[in-house]
Amino acid sequence: MSDVKTYPNYINGEWVTGEKTFENRNPANTDELVGLFARGTAQDIANAAEAARCAYPAWSGMTGPARGNYLFKAAEILDSRFEQLGLEMTREEGKTLPEAKGEVRRAINIFKYFAGEGSRMPGHLVPSERDRVFMFAIRKALGVVGLVTPWNFPSAIPAWKLAPALIAGNTVVLKPASAAPLSAWRLVEALAEAGVPKGVVNFVAGPGGELGEALVDAPPLKAVSFTGSCGIGNWLHERASRRRLRIQLEMGGKNPTIVLADADFKAAVENTANAAFFSTGQKCTATSRAIVEDSIYDRFVEALVERTAKLKVGDGREPGVDIGPAIDQAQLDTDLKYIEIGKKEGAALKIGGRRLSEGAFAKGYFVEPTIFSDVEEGMTIAQEEIFGPVLAVMRARDFDHAIKIANHVAFGLSASIQTQNVSRIFDYVHKIEAGLLTVNLPSAGVEYQLPFGGTKDSSFGPKEQGPAALDFYTDYKTVYLKY
Ligand code: NAP
Repeated sequence: MSDVKTYPNYINGEWVTGEKTFENRNPANTDELVGLFARGTAQDIANAAEAARCAYPAWSGMTGPARGNYLFKAAEILDSRFEQLGLEMTREEGKTLPEAKGEVRRAINIFKYFAGEGSRMPGHLVPSERDRVFMFAIRKALGVVGLVTPWNFPSAIPAWKLAPALIAGNTVVLKPASAAPLSAWRLVEALAEAGVPKGVVNFVAGPGGELGEALVDAPPLKAVSFTGSCGIGNWLHERASRRRLRIQLEMGGKNPTIVLADADFKAAVENTANAAFFSTGQKCTATSRAIVEDSIYDRFVEALVERTAKLKVGDGREPGVDIGPAIDQAQLDTDLKYIEIGKKEGAALKIGGRRLSEGAFAKGYFVEPTIFSDVEEGMTIAQEEIFGPVLAVMRARDFDHAIKIANHVAFGLSASIQTQNVSRIFDYVHKIEAGLLTVNLPSAGVEYQLPFGGTKDSSFGPKEQGPAALDFYTDYKTVYLKY
């Protein structure tokens, strides 16, 4: 126990430990303590928000390229620790080592991308109708921004909020997920080592309820960006709206993969298995419904079951493992609860369905990748987000029917179609109710250079990532100048 590190909070340029700590354990082996984290309090949030308020004038007054230099430097520091950060992420979140390394690389690239944005910061320059009037609109930072992040992308999501917020000139208070705070802590450590002035970046870990409430009520706060579950997001929205805080919410999904009869069959099977089960189905963009055209339905289910049987579940650090554990007991219980509901409601369990608890699995939260076929639109497992490796396979008469099923949910985050028919692809692009669309690719697996976010109950507010990310973190000042 003595060699387990305690990770302090970071407030006003100081590493602050406080009185209590909480544990960060490896979900693949709960005997393994990854670290202890200072348990932040409402007072810590208040101090962090005040520090961010004080730091704002100097930081927002700096030139964009100068702010960019800090992000470039932080990216270099992260890169120098690439292997370590990947391994740490697998230990705290459970995803496989290749997936974790991919995510660390993405976080580094996000820092670099937005570092460059400091030299662009596009506004508007258009001709006036009036003689000798010069008019333009420039971007302006908002002030202190609160960032609340989930555990499933513990580095990429904090990175894609921190980087655009900072490059635009805002100062921030980051509240990471309690289940996996270390990856976000490493980003803040890199920013601190890069020399970001005190108070610009603040990090407070601890219980979401208490800290979330303190954050949204902190007087200096101007905006909140949240990624997580719909329940918490909706609560935050209600609370933030009372103060007219700007708010951005990225929440749950029930993402479909539509498989048409003309699809490249092998690729469609592979893409569906990948999207449903990799990262243990714990991606917001994971596929949880495969909607398959009638004429290939039985053959597709059979091939998908065969492919799924070959997936190896285990500790994500081991080579060859495809699927790690659920993040914690609560998520494991949720997975198993929905599997029971699926059985009770009459769906056909084709593979999986059990917790794995023997031998090497004994100390982790492992569940078998699970496929239900004959799932009907009204069933609970066709409607509610599970956030685990549980796939519902549904039968569609034709393309139009598939689109109707796909859209018949409250969510609209990502979607995929597998087909060779160009007209169908464009019909799908126009008709599907989702914010992130893929074609002949898994529904999960997006890049940072384009806008990210969903529609319907999945999202609220401007998109994240790519050039669109600046829309949330900036306001415009419009100038009319007579010369
Ligand atoms: P969560 O339980 O909603 O937690 C998200 C964050 O909110 C955590 O930092 C949590 O802190 C904090 N929190 C808890 N209660 C709060 C409150 N009252 N006020 C403010 N913050 C509060 O979600 P999760 O279980 O971490 O993540 C899984 C969910 O995220 C899924 O629904 C998934 O679809 C969604 N997700 C969406 C996207 C997207 O881009 N659309 C991406 C990834 C994940 P604690 O950890 O301390 O509870």
